[in-house]
Amino acid sequence: MSNFSVILGTRPEVIKLAPVVHAARARGHQVRLITTGQHRELTYPLLKFFELKPDIDLDVMSAAQGLSQVSERILSGLNHHSKDLEDSGVIFVQGDTITALIGAVWGFFNRIPIAHVEAGLRTYDLNAPFPEEANRQLISRIACLHFAPTVQAAMALQMENVKLDDIFTVGNTSIDALKWALNHLGDQKLTDIQEIPLKVAQFAQEGRYIMVTAHRRESFGVGFDGICDGILGLIERVPDLRVIYPVHPNPQVKNAAERRLGSQSRILLCDPLPYVGFLGLLKSAHVILTDSGGVQEEAPSLRIPILVLREKTERPEGVEAGFSKLVGTHSSRIIEATLSALSEEKVPQGENPYGDGQSAARMIKLVEERIYAK
Ligand code: UDP
Repeated sequence: MSNFSVILGTRPEVIKLAPVVHAARARGHQVRLITTGQHRELTYPLLKFFELKPDIDLDVMSAAQGLSQVSERILSGLNHHSKDLEDSGVIFVQGDTITALIGAVWGFFNRIPIAHVEAGLRTYDLNAPFPEEANRQLISRIACLHFAPTVQAAMALQMENVKLDDIFTVGNTSIDALKWALNHLGDQKLTDIQEIPLKVAQFAQEGRYIMVTAHRRESFGVGFDGICDGILGLIERVPDLRVIYPVHPNPQVKNAAERRLGSQSRILLCDPLPYVGFLGLLKSAHVILTDSGGVQEEAPSLRIPILVLREKTERPEGVEAGFSKLVGTHSSRIIEATLSALSEEKVPQGENPYGDGQSAARMIKLVEERIYAK
């Protein structure tokens, strides 16, 4: 039995690290869970869903903080708890958030090995996504174990001269989490799923709908306007089409979405949905429009066509396998691609290129061999 620490702070980190905590505990390891509180209102209900309780909450968020202030608070919070963390045999961080970067830096300075979950995703454009592309490249410079979700991600790490012995292609734990959630969901009707507000479920049951999520920093402004114009153009052209858009709480996104889309009867803006409720709605959608990374990974398992509202993606596997299309943020491209996806009879087919639901167990076995067997 060994000590693992897991540092997380945002919604996708909880979703993708929960399976790692479960798999480590199932093997009898002690896991210490640290949340930075970066997205507190989104993470606490999710932690509860995955039956997890943080041991330490750094509570770093306060109104209108920039990235450097959040970083400073995470670092000093971790310093404050250094006595609790010093016996960690390994620290897990996931993906490309500020929480992941600063957690990795703290571990590196304290000579604790870093296991990076979802390593090797790249656009090689430091502005897209910002700051995530820089965060994940920086983590790759200091991590000890690089858990790449796909062969392409593993190859990117090799090209950057990460030692071959330290790279493992294990799949993405988002698919482990998805399996857990779909199991919980069963085949309930939308209006019976407790995690979907009744008003949203009833709206969804009235006809065909597209599901939208959009909140990337690099799309704020012109890009977001293009997305809104695209959505408005679609409901104008397709009289029976509805749109459900759970809006991220970031005020820049929320205010713009309400101003541009809030008064349309066939567009439902709602608060972010509980994970299971969101997946329930995703499963019944006709098309997904999203700039989210996690949703790009989930959609192939649900067999729903997905249009990516970005110019570049660090997840090209879904595009190459025919599950997703990159459409960017210009309204005309969004409208054209959505109309074509709506008229397509064929459901996307094939294995999900992002994982098989066994990734976390593979990682824990590898950590046991590499860190604890020495
Ligand atoms: N998600 C959710 N509720 C919502 C919208 C998304 O639970 O209302 C989930 C979604 O299933 C996916 C994750 O949140 O697993 C994606 O999070 P986000 O888009 O914030 O981050 P990204 O994946 O882009 O890093």
